[in-house]
Amino acid sequence: MLRSAVCGLVPRVVRRSAGPSVRHLSAAAIPVPSAQPEVHFNQLFINNEWVDAQSRKTFPTINPATGEVICQVAEADQADVNRAVKAARDAFRLGSPWRRMDASQRGLLLSRLADAIERDAAYLAELETLDNGKPYAISYMVDIPTVVKCLRYYAGWADKWEGKTIPIDGDYFCYTRHEPVGVCGQIIPWNFPLLMQAWKLGPALATGNTVVMKVAEQTPLTALYVANLIKEVGFPEGVVNILPGMGPTAGAAIAGHMDVDKVAFTGSTEVGQLIQQAAGTSNLKKVTLELGGKSPNIILSDSNMEEAVEQSHFALFFNQGQCCCAGSRTYVQADIYDEFLERSAERARKRVVGNPFDLKTEQGPQVDQEQFNKILGYISTGKKEGAKLMCGGGVAADRGYYIQPTVFGDVQDNMTIAREEIFGPVMQILKFNTLEEVITRANDSKYGLAAGIFTKDIDKAHYVANGLRAGTVWINCYDVFGAQAPFGGYKSSGIGRELGEYGLENYTEVKTVTIKVPQKNS
Ligand code: NAP
Ligand code: MG
Repeated sequence: MLRSAVCGLVPRVVRRSAGPSVRHLSAAAIPVPSAQPEVHFNQLFINNEWVDAQSRKTFPTINPATGEVICQVAEADQADVNRAVKAARDAFRLGSPWRRMDASQRGLLLSRLADAIERDAAYLAELETLDNGKPYAISYMVDIPTVVKCLRYYAGWADKWEGKTIPIDGDYFCYTRHEPVGVCGQIIPWNFPLLMQAWKLGPALATGNTVVMKVAEQTPLTALYVANLIKEVGFPEGVVNILPGMGPTAGAAIAGHMDVDKVAFTGSTEVGQLIQQAAGTSNLKKVTLELGGKSPNIILSDSNMEEAVEQSHFALFFNQGQCCCAGSRTYVQADIYDEFLERSAERARKRVVGNPFDLKTEQGPQVDQEQFNKILGYISTGKKEGAKLMCGGGVAADRGYYIQPTVFGDVQDNMTIAREEIFGPVMQILKFNTLEEVITRANDSKYGLAAGIFTKDIDKAHYVANGLRAGTVWINCYDVFGAQAPFGGYKSSGIGRELGEYGLENYTEVKTVTIKVPQKNS
């Protein structure tokens, strides 16, 4: 995701990464990375301590560029979740250091966490690239600065999230307090490990909650390093607990826990449904979900062709195509369709795929064997169902999970590749004629996360933007994120919004206090 509007560096690096000038910029601005950063933490982080899983179980985390094991990591299960929830509950008890802490001090701790991440940016970017496979230039220039900005943004909110005074009828003084929800379970995915951690921790901690976070089994390492920074900067014991582990065990234990007050999840729609069911059958904990998408990206014939091709390429291929909001249905108006298709294939053929530690690399490996197989399966289905393979379609290296940038033309709305989330470097280009038609077709999806529109006509842009059922609409740009702007999905793409002021609401209970005001001094 993210060419971030808040990150001054980001628009430059991403735009330039399209062309040869990325080399110049990268060499000047990015420290030479080590491809073998040392791993310092591989246990569970509970109550500000490093502990093994009670079962002593571990699992391997893999380097997707080679398929080799990086290290073993402690594997949390129900017993460890119970322990972490107890620590988080204790940290949340009335009168605890965390509950008594001034809001401004909570903000300061978040701000110090941002400073510590910034200090260790080069190391964290190396570790992120090692564990996830994303290009180091992106980890360093996009992910880490965006993490830092997100935490600083929420640090600022800590003492500004105010209630209201309410003019109710009668002789009463009525006001609201914004109080933390309590113990928050947070389950995050592997596509932006550090950033998803920041999106979840920022609003939860700014509003005074405590956290039990399960990180994705594919990418546990950076979250654990950040856990140590959380301790270093002075968060009290039990405020943040970080558990590597598996979804059906540790994740399910959080979602169904009777003493977790809220669960926030980012990942697939299928698992999102399980989370909501578990919340419903346990203690009706609050649920926020950021799920999948099949986002339409609509190119009108009056758009700037070069810009639209480049942005649409970025919209789909960024982060190896592993973005919930990827522009994965590219609708192009009929009179420019052929040229757009040809130019998009040409751009994809030029995409630099390879070692993610090489600063020239635009595309690293997919995150794991399972995703790799799944994406190749979709490519084969696309061919079978009659889409026209314009380029790519195969494996891009002898080892590691590399897939060639792939473009399909002549895609029809009912094809599997036009309906399901592929989560890989596979672009679908479809043809449309009228605006009414494309709005109807774009909305014909169970998802509603994001959308893009490319046009020089502001009236058409507004008309289409208003008609689309999506939580975010980008016009003449794509994947522009800011910590200040809310993000989330309509329909099966989610519940609630993350980021911005809206993101605070998901971590807040509103308490109404009403006081009788005597009308006479007696
Ligand atoms: P996923 O299964 O939805 O995983 C996301 C997180 O949920 C991980 O931490 C996962 O744990 C956990 N989880 C899995 N099953 C769970 C359960 N029963 N209860 C509680 N937590 C559970 O996603 P995935 O398997 O990694 O990827 C599959 C597809 O999901 C992708 O192809 C893509 O379509 C979508 N996805 C979307 C996003 C997004 O940003 N919206 C991110 C990643 C994936 P494990 O570590 O054990 O998996
Ligand atoms: Mg890994």
